[in-house]
Amino acid sequence: MNKYLEQLVQLSKYDSKISAYEPQIENEKAKLAVFLQTAESISSSIDATHAEIDDLKSKRTKNNIHLSELKVKLDEITKKNNVVQNEKELKALQLEEEIAKEQISFANEEISRLDDLMQSKEAYVKELEDKLAQEKEEINDLQVAVDNAIEDLNKDRNNVYQERAVLLEQFDNKILTFYEKIRRWAKDKAVVPVRKQACYGCYMKINDKAYADVIKAEEIVNCPHCGRILYKEVESEEA
Ligand SMILES: [Zn+2]
Repeated sequence: MNKYLEQLVQLSKYDSKISAYEPQIENEKAKLAVFLQTAESISSSIDATHAEIDDLKSKRTKNNIHLSELKVKLDEITKKNNVVQNEKELKALQLEEEIAKEQISFANEEISRLDDLMQSKEAYVKELEDKLAQEKEEINDLQVAVDNAIEDLNKDRNNVYQERAVLLEQFDNKILTFYEKIRRWAKDKAVVPVRKQACYGCYMKINDKAYADVIKAEEIVNCPHCGRILYKEVESEEA
């Protein structure tokens, strides 16, 4: 194979390899993101439930204040009962007493309803906090695994960069410029194999003359359709 072509094939392989690392790194980070999102949503549920509990507490306090006011009123009614002057006043007091007692019973029912609600909300917060703790533990473990995987990927990528740099030292500048120009649009498929007489960049069949030139590999051949650099793989590679 033409020396330049051989170098181009190798360079293209390095470049493809290097490009493949970024999605792998992103993939590792994404694993963690799902867990972080779950933890965040549990955290905000906890905050929201705490706010609901605070609201219930303040309602309970208001009911308690109302209750003590009603008790004072009831005491006053009892005192007035002792100095009542006539039937009419007695009836009015009895009505007032009835209403106050009814209100006390309402307030007590409301307080008991609020207490039940608070209790279930507190149990729910506890459940969420357990879940969050578990999630955080998993995040910590996963973080270590993800960090290690990313470190390995970065190491591997640096190795490929170094091999690429060594190769570039031997490169002809014109050939490199030529390659970079195709690479600008063809990305990692600037140098592609020919299989079954077809360019594996644009997948179109190439003519017999071009195919014969590719097989000879004495010079650099571009795909007549798309312009990518073509090469014939060695048998084992094609298989
Ligand atoms: Zn092509």
